[in-house]
Amino acid sequence: MIDELARLQAASAALEPAAGQRRELTDLAAAHAERFLANVAEEPAFSDPRPLDEATEALAVRETARDFADVLGVLEAQVDHSGVAATSPRFLGYIPGGGLYAAALGDYLAAVSNRYAGVAFAGPGAARLENLLVRWLADVIGYPAEARGTLTSGGSVANLTAVVAARDAGGISPANTDQAVVYVTDQLHHSLLKSLHIAGLASTEVRTVPTDAMFRMHVPDLELLIQADQAAGLRPWLVVGSAGTTNSGAVDPLAAIAAVARRHGLWFHVDGAYGGLFSLCPEARPILQGIEQADSVTLDPHKTLFLPYGAGAVLVRDGAHLLNAFSASADYIENILDQPADLSPADMSPELTRHFRGLRLWLPLQLAGVAAFRAALSEKLLLARYFRRRLSEVPGFEVGPAPDLSVVVFRYRPDSPDADAINAELQRRLQREGRAFLSTTRLSGRLTLRCAILSFRTHLSDVDETLGAIAEAASAIDADFAST
Ligand SMILES: *Cc1c(COP(=O)(O)O)cnc(C)c1O
Repeated sequence: MIDELARLQAASAALEPAAGQRRELTDLAAAHAERFLANVAEEPAFSDPRPLDEATEALAVRETARDFADVLGVLEAQVDHSGVAATSPRFLGYIPGGGLYAAALGDYLAAVSNRYAGVAFAGPGAARLENLLVRWLADVIGYPAEARGTLTSGGSVANLTAVVAARDAGGISPANTDQAVVYVTDQLHHSLLKSLHIAGLASTEVRTVPTDAMFRMHVPDLELLIQADQAAGLRPWLVVGSAGTTNSGAVDPLAAIAAVARRHGLWFHVDGAYGGLFSLCPEARPILQGIEQADSVTLDPHKTLFLPYGAGAVLVRDGAHLLNAFSASADYIENILDQPADLSPADMSPELTRHFRGLRLWLPLQLAGVAAFRAALSEKLLLARYFRRRLSEVPGFEVGPAPDLSVVVFRYRPDSPDADAINAELQRRLQREGRAFLSTTRLSGRLTLRCAILSFRTHLSDVDETLGAIAEAASAIDADFAST
């Protein structure tokens, strides 16, 4: 048995490299990261993947150890440059992600020290750091002292967490789900419908409140729908507003929705995954006014604080509702401290053991300071206005309404009978060329291009280059359509 233990220990030695080896590995990883970062400005905003069979072979998990330099080569060839380049300053599709370097260092340090961020007595420092970040986020949107929240993997899980808290606060149970009514607009992010489904609420009635010309909820209609449902004996329960829709960046009239929700006893959730954190900018506060009156808010630091993917947050104004929905105890979780433990992240989240994700948010905030984030967000708001004005001067383009935040929608040759095909072709051309990546959506049934500016790396020169790429692609399309 002793011999066998010695043999197994030797056979698993690769799991614990010695200090010298660690240094070598870290240097190789850092050099790889530097090579990647040196190229982000030039890298195409979109690249096709390598063939599947080649990737399957290269990425295969093996019995035996591989050389780190070789493995890094595989990553570079198969993963690092495949698809949309979320790190590109000219990635302007969907809601851009960033990837702050300091956040990568936070992940590295969190993984090395592996503090337990689920339960406060087990990782008091980690739990305090996360609770403090939640408090900072609550201050940013203007929430009171009793607000609580949790850092999630992203906006989808944040929305799900809020829906579950709202469900329990509203007394929605299998006995009455069929009578419960949810109010949304057709601009709602699809993760909310998915949340209802996961939370066992697929059979609730979902009412689509009409929107105005700016794609914002028309609040008088919300109240009429609620009154009709009340009269019909149904149970109006939840209204979801958007602080920045994914489609067009529109912000619903949050204060007006809050007033209606209060009057009729509904839970008001604001999906601010894209736009909520623009609350950091004084000039965006008027449009976001009322967010502080919501019962719950979703935020997404991996969008609007430029973190790498894997960082969302949900806040609940009366934190007791979050604790009611998610706290749990077990015999094997017992405070071992001589003092009362702080609130545990696990008591406000569906997760127990989880990544110490606070560090990837805390470190960039410490190293850059909040002022740098505020400046970067103000720059994005201004760049969106600049983009819209400049594009409106290019013949053939129709731009959408002045952006609430940093998404600009537009169409080329909107009056052409082939307008949808022309705009789809414009997007495809830009994608193939790779100078800038823009995505499309449908607004009022029409295929529409959108430019979403949110990366900390996107500056004036990138917007100018994007405008140039769009104008050139449009001319090329004119030539093509003229010749057919
Ligand atoms: C991105 C987004 C979500 C989903 O968040 P993930 O972080 O992708 O899970 C939800 N709502 C809105 C408005 C979004 O922009």
